[in-house]
Amino acid sequence: MKILVVGSGGRDHAIAWKFAQSDRVKKVYVAHGNAGISQTAQCVDAKTPEEIVAFAQRESIDLTFVGPEKPLSAGIVDLFERHGLPIIGPNRQASRLESSKCDTKLMLKALGIPVPEFAVFSDPDAARAYVRSVGYPVVVKADGLAAGKGSLVCDDVAAAEAAIHDIMEARIFGDAGSRVDIEKRLYGRELSFFCFSDGYTLVPMVAAQDYKRARDNDEGKNTGGMGSYSPHPWLDDALVETIMSRVARPLIDGIREKHGLLYRGVLYLGLMLVQEPAGITPYVLEINIRLGDPEAQVILPRLKTDLVDICEAILAGRLQDVPLSWDSRYRLCLIAVSGRTKGKKGWYKGYPDRYKIGVPIHGLDAVDPQCLVFHSGTGWGNNGTLVTTGGRVFGIVSSGETLAEARAVAYREMEKVSFEGMYYRKDIGKD
Ligand code: ATP
Repeated sequence: MKILVVGSGGRDHAIAWKFAQSDRVKKVYVAHGNAGISQTAQCVDAKTPEEIVAFAQRESIDLTFVGPEKPLSAGIVDLFERHGLPIIGPNRQASRLESSKCDTKLMLKALGIPVPEFAVFSDPDAARAYVRSVGYPVVVKADGLAAGKGSLVCDDVAAAEAAIHDIMEARIFGDAGSRVDIEKRLYGRELSFFCFSDGYTLVPMVAAQDYKRARDNDEGKNTGGMGSYSPHPWLDDALVETIMSRVARPLIDGIREKHGLLYRGVLYLGLMLVQEPAGITPYVLEINIRLGDPEAQVILPRLKTDLVDICEAILAGRLQDVPLSWDSRYRLCLIAVSGRTKGKKGWYKGYPDRYKIGVPIHGLDAVDPQCLVFHSGTGWGNNGTLVTTGGRVFGIVSSGETLAEARAVAYREMEKVSFEGMYYRKDIGKD
């Protein structure tokens, strides 16, 4: 079979790698990929949905899998379906679960799924009056896509008013901030939960712990993710069933029955688990319509089932026939990012703020082949050297019988690699 993966980050590298493991796969293409991905698959210079569908037709691609949210929200699945080409991912309308936080919260509430108390505003004065009136700390969220940075967690009313100004008036996230979802700030344990869905049947995946903050001890700004590990320390079967019965199944059944939406692909629930007198309530903070990055980098290496079999079952609506099997060993992903460096115009603070690109990377060839290296922001420099092209640069994924063993291997191997300004957290998997 010929497979096409859409994406260019670490998650997409992991997806391409997983497909390449299948005996059923002859060739993997990635649109548009990066330098590391080009060592696993053939990168294709197609960026828009139209260019990608044209490539899939020309090459007679058997199956396409979409990694990131942007092409899904742009309707790439609808376009492929119009051309009769098999593709995995939710369509444009279902993608609004991620691309509109306001509409999604309203819909979840109508379906009886637990959400924090919230209100939606398109007028900044009304939003300010609301945060002054509620009497509890809030989180102010830009309605649209903001690369994982559009939710501002506020300690007090002044911070909330500043967040409303930044999002709605200064438009720091552009048009994504024309509306806001203002939520009661909850305190509990956060969990990212992933399922495959064929629109009727949902199959949960193993969970991963991720690390969103830039600095050790969960300090610093929110990032796309600085590391992850799996299995998750406290997700047991009872909790999985609570999440499936209170959130995942009511959501997939509700959008099918009430909105006529068949959700096919990966469903990602961002949850806050709050201990209440009647037990744990899984409150939905956000819904994403694809695998997480860097959660995919530790989940997919644990998946023993052929990803092609899973995708075919999703397309045929018979996911119940393909039980998933998982490797029990730990995987840990440690992400190296472009950190503080001196550039032509002074100092760059480093990811997630401004960073330098085009910096040569040394030592990746020396990493133990037992580890996986998934690239996020790498490219080829003028003389064929590997250089940085993004904030998150690459991740090393190690394995071990215990979390401590996997952690020791990842940190040992990371020391073999260097580039100017390279930074990584020192506490991934330490807890
Ligand atoms: P990402 O796509 O990176 O997950 P996002 O910008 O889409 O993030 P959310 O997931 O809604 O936004 O929020 C980001 C983070 O803010 C959450 O992981 C959580 O730590 C915090 N957060 C969001 N909503 C709440 C809430 N109601 N109470 C407490 N914390 C919250």
